[in-house]
Amino acid sequence: MNPMMKDGSVVIIGAGIIGIACAHYLAADGRKVTVLDKGTIADGCSYGNCGQITPSHVLPLNSPDAIKSGVLSLFDSRAPFRVKPQLEPVFINWMLQFARRCTHGRMIEAATSLKSILDSSFQEFESLLDGGVVDCDWNKSGTLYVYRSQKMFEAFAKTDDLLTRHFAVSAKRLSGADLPAFEPALRQDLAGGYFYEQDALVHPSRFAKAWVRKLQNDGVKFVENCEVISLDKEGARIKSVMTSKGVYEADDVVLAAGAFSPTLAREFECAIPVLPGKGYSVTVARPSVCPKVSMIMPEHNVAITPFAEGLRFGSMMEFVGFDSDIPEFRTRQLKECGKAYLRMETPKAHEEEWFGWRPMTWDSLPIIGRAPKLSNALIATGHCMMGLMLAPATGKLAAEILGERATHIPDAPFSPARFNA
Ligand SMILES: Cc1cc2nc3c(=O)[nH]c(=O)nc-3n(C[C@H](O)[C@H](O)[C@H](O)COP(=O)(O)OP(=O)(O)OC[C@H]3O[C@@H](n4cnc5c(N)ncnc54)[C@H](O)[C@@H]3O)c2cc1C
Repeated sequence: MNPMMKDGSVVIIGAGIIGIACAHYLAADGRKVTVLDKGTIADGCSYGNCGQITPSHVLPLNSPDAIKSGVLSLFDSRAPFRVKPQLEPVFINWMLQFARRCTHGRMIEAATSLKSILDSSFQEFESLLDGGVVDCDWNKSGTLYVYRSQKMFEAFAKTDDLLTRHFAVSAKRLSGADLPAFEPALRQDLAGGYFYEQDALVHPSRFAKAWVRKLQNDGVKFVENCEVISLDKEGARIKSVMTSKGVYEADDVVLAAGAFSPTLAREFECAIPVLPGKGYSVTVARPSVCPKVSMIMPEHNVAITPFAEGLRFGSMMEFVGFDSDIPEFRTRQLKECGKAYLRMETPKAHEEEWFGWRPMTWDSLPIIGRAPKLSNALIATGHCMMGLMLAPATGKLAAEILGERATHIPDAPFSPARFNA
């Protein structure tokens, strides 16, 4: 083992993609890693998401337009971005803090931090998947943004210009006439699109399972149906983790419980302002003319991603608490989006309907760093709409921070200290 690396045991709370990524980089440091999950491995938000690996996705949800969408959603229960007013102080404070950051300046500031972690994560994906470390295929075929309305298509030119000038993220512009040749699954009557060729796609649950298999072979222990209830501490140090399956001693503890992380905030003596942002996906059998590239339809806020297993439609951002219904109108909206853009008939039988609670922070940045009041605890959550994309860089940062090494990208923007001054 590298003498700069710290050994000892680590308990990770949560076997979603973030917990799995932290396990990988900590095990690579020679740490003895145990991952505990109250359910089954990668069965939460990391299961049915859209699988998009998008270094192009640098702009945060906090944008000057987000407030307008939020206010309009109060009057439209079918809007893709929906806020159900709630009286809890945690919810009200989150919304106010989110709204404060919906300015052009704050958007660019958040995007600058996102850019560094997105680029780092993409490089890590390349070494994990191209390098054969994890046995899973991925599709480096880019992301195509598709527009129906000429007005919206032209309006996106401003965003495209901003992305190019500030972040060197540039797209190829395709007219409506060019689209069917570029992606034969698209209809002939669309306004146009922007193609981000640097993006990629991976099947999220197949990737998570392959990664877990590799880690189990390397000696990482995963314990399912094991809910973490509290921490046993001595002063500012966690001695052990109390669970529904007994006590786990650890030299370091990582909290990676996704949208549930705030339920353990008191134990970690740390504010974790994360709200569940509910989204849905429907996966149907692959149509005979199946898209080749991963797509985003900004007017409908829907992503369409082709996998060997089927065609997935995913969308919606609902701030409605931990509600676990899948309303029929949501799955219908997703499938109708197919009709609006694709040559395919809307499939009659759908294979799988799913929802997930994204761990949403009010500044659109993940929370990665030491719990400020404890000497041996790290928080790794709040990855919002990009937990899959950001997982490898998060795991790398977690190992560097717990290993007391310099971090490969600036970690201050992601520190939990920003909520705990
Ligand atoms: C419709 C939709 C589409 C999306 N598309 C994309 C995409 O294309 N690309 C992308 O990068 N991201 C996407 N996302 C976001 C991404 O899915 C999430 O950011 C990511 O899965 C969060 O991972 P996580 O490990 O933090 O949380 P989770 O996957 O939810 O894992 C948390 C785990 O912690 C466990 N847990 C909670 N509490 C406890 C406890 N007390 N004790 C033990 N275990 C506990 C849970 O059981 C769970 O397994 C999408 C999300 C949705 C909803």
